[in-house]
Amino acid sequence: MSLCDDTLLCNFPKCRTKLGGFAWVTACSHVFCDQHGSGEFSRSPSICPACSSALSGKLDIVRTELSPSEEYKAMVLAGLRPDVILDISGRALAFWSYQVTQERMYQEYSLSRAESQLKQLEKVLTQQNQSREVELTGMRGEIASLKKVMEEYKRKYSEVSERLMERNRQYQKLQGLYDSLRLRNMVVGVGERDMAPQLGHHDFNTGGARQATPQRSPQFLPVAQDGDSRFFSCLEADGAKTFFQYSSPTRERGRLFMKKH
Ligand SMILES: [Zn+2]
Ligand SMILES: [Zn+2]
Repeated sequence: MSLCDDTLLCNFPKCRTKLGGFAWVTACSHVFCDQHGSGEFSRSPSICPACSSALSGKLDIVRTELSPSEEYKAMVLAGLRPDVILDISGRALAFWSYQVTQERMYQEYSLSRAESQLKQLEKVLTQQNQSREVELTGMRGEIASLKKVMEEYKRKYSEVSERLMERNRQYQKLQGLYDSLRLRNMVVGVGERDMAPQLGHHDFNTGGARQATPQRSPQFLPVAQDGDSRFFSCLEADGAKTFFQYSSPTRERGRLFMKKH
């Protein structure tokens, strides 16, 4: 009931329409809208839809105008003794008071039901939150361990790339060394060939002159030995494998170098 605008509500279950115009009032202090009143009380015997009271008396059910005309108000209690007037007014006020009390009880019941539903909902939400929290904590732990793994990989990666750079530097050095050796070899080779005619015919017959030339060269040998030791020192242990894997295009050159010496 909305007490602020002083309007009663239909007592028919689940109707609760604000009453206006005509309403049906009963001796059991219930009130109904015109639709439910005319429907329920057209049968005989009439039963109150709100409290199931039997309403068999002639004045047990009255269809009343809620906003009576001035003429009606002027005449309805006219001629009655004051005690009768007060009696009628008292009974009408009791009816009103009962309706207000009932409505308040209904509102309180609705409120308590809503509160218990809210509590239930809060409980469910709290449980959900707790399980989410547990889930989140687990995920955070997982993230932290994954981060650790990633850091480990990063560290390994930087180590490997550092090693790769070192190998590349060594390779560049070797390449320079190899190029200079080849150049010297060529120069020495050319010099030997130029001298070949004066060295005697038997060398040509064995065919060993050209092969033996680089090793016999006094300039070449110390350089070649030095080159060998430097070359193998940098290819020690697992170094050679990694080195040639990373520098695949130069693999053939490396092999050539090894074959020659
Ligand atoms: Zn109704
Ligand atoms: Zn009733």
